[in-house]
Amino acid sequence: MKCPACGADNDKVLETRSTNSGSAMRRRRECLECGYRFTSYERVEDKPITVIKKNGNLQIFDSDKIQRSLRICTDKRNISQETLDQLISNVEEQVKIIAGPRHEITSSQIGEEILRQLSSIDAVAYVRFASVYRSFNNVEQFIAEIEKFQN
Ligand SMILES: [Zn+2]
Repeated sequence: MKCPACGADNDKVLETRSTNSGSAMRRRRECLECGYRFTSYERVEDKPITVIKKNGNLQIFDSDKIQRSLRICTDKRNISQETLDQLISNVEEQVKIIAGPRHEITSSQIGEEILRQLSSIDAVAYVRFASVYRSFNNVEQFIAEIEKFQN
């Protein structure tokens, strides 16, 4: 597997574990060229999940989108790659559970799940995500969200 740090395709697997639901394998890898450690996921291809957006449009669930938005909202928050990987994997697991046998989920269910997971990790990242996702219209809404953390 290609090393995200140096691009070399020369690594060894340190550890292999299956995720909670057993639908994916998680592998810790070490690049033999530069020593960088990273995690890969290999999953069984299954029926794609349909996301129902607020305006009624349908979209295929895309985990990359979640990864991108989580990277943005955790930027410079000193959250380890390990924690971020775990967060992404937890969100994906929950999306699958919520989507259930119908393979359908609404975009707000996904948003709320991300918020739920973020709330236990980092308050700033939570508020960043919430401010985009819930599109706060004013400062009061924003403050109300921050105050939830002081309880
Ligand atoms: Zn490397």
